[in-house]
Amino acid sequence: MRTLLTNATLVDCVHPRAVERAAVLIEDGRIREIRTDGSAPEAGDATVIDLSGACLMPGLWDVHIHPDYYAVDDMPLADQVTLFGHRLMAALTDSGIIGLRCAGSHSYMDVAWKRAFDSGQYVGPRLFASGHFLTTTGGHFLTSGHALECDGPYGFVKAIREQIKNGVDHIKLNLSGGIMGPAWDRHQNSFLLQEELKAAFDICHLREFKVMAHATNPEAVKNAIRLGAHSVEHGYIMDDECIELFLKHDTWYVPTLAISHLTPDQATNDWEQRWVTQRNLAHALCCRADAASDVHRAGFAKALAAGVKMALGSDIRPLKEAALLELGLWVRDGATPWQALVAATRNGAAICGVGHELGTIEVGKLADLIVVDGNPLEDIQNVRRLQLVLKEGVVVSDKRRS
Ligand SMILES: [Zn+2]
Repeated sequence: MRTLLTNATLVDCVHPRAVERAAVLIEDGRIREIRTDGSAPEAGDATVIDLSGACLMPGLWDVHIHPDYYAVDDMPLADQVTLFGHRLMAALTDSGIIGLRCAGSHSYMDVAWKRAFDSGQYVGPRLFASGHFLTTTGGHFLTSGHALECDGPYGFVKAIREQIKNGVDHIKLNLSGGIMGPAWDRHQNSFLLQEELKAAFDICHLREFKVMAHATNPEAVKNAIRLGAHSVEHGYIMDDECIELFLKHDTWYVPTLAISHLTPDQATNDWEQRWVTQRNLAHALCCRADAASDVHRAGFAKALAAGVKMALGSDIRPLKEAALLELGLWVRDGATPWQALVAATRNGAAICGVGHELGTIEVGKLADLIVVDGNPLEDIQNVRRLQLVLKEGVVVSDKRRS
């Protein structure tokens, strides 16, 4: 099967500028040829789609997600599983998010949906599963319904082995508190004993599973990096040594700006206002977020300036809006649209271990692409003007006439 995309404004996420009148030929799901000299490859039997100057770019990635929370009394488990899948599929078709990395889910719903998408039963995004969010008794995120309370070195080891047995891709390990939680769950505090930390990281190393580490204060961030975490999530408070360690160990950082930045007092545009209104967050939690925001922003800016490897993860819901809001926050906090876009494409694929196959528009890569009406390098909000979504060269969403 061949598809020829013509008259594209190409943002390949390799080169930091758009190329007009580009053409891309896709064959059997992969990018076969790219022309940027105004000519187009011979169409032959290919389906030709004239993009009329719209912007062709790699699909988006959100690498810190919780598609939904699990609530025992709200609806039967089976209904919650289908809703979870719906959230994922809507992210792909409504917003062009083609890759997602889970940071916690109940009953291995993420594993089940990953298998359903990979087998072709359903058209959905590429999903990387974590299973449960592993914390301590009295730990963080207990209201999510998918936190598993573990205690003692062997408590963590057993829980990690259970996640592995159930088919996860990586282990989500909680090292410290958070902004969204009861009064005793504070992001300034670390939660695990050294023996627990060591055991958890040891078993992950033995089994060769990557650790996605929730770390929110300097001590937790440094522990995570020194013990070999693949990525550090949040980093609400970071000192200079944290930044040095990121660089020294080549560790990924996923800042999740949305958590501290999206409150009624901080919303700066209509999308943020609407989201904040719908979320209707408790006043006490808004205060905690507002208080954490400046330090979080400063750490993000420092990491960005130092060249720490960073990928975009939202940590908020609904998925189809989350990554778009987070992209806006990156730019608001000083990232260029180019830096934000790379974090949400090339680096998203790389942090998930598939950077050689996805994340940019290059010959040989899988054709998971989106078309948006406007250049996001000029205004990052242009990613919202979605026209087409292609997965392995097949159009899975067409919004051009709707
Ligand atoms: Zn999270």
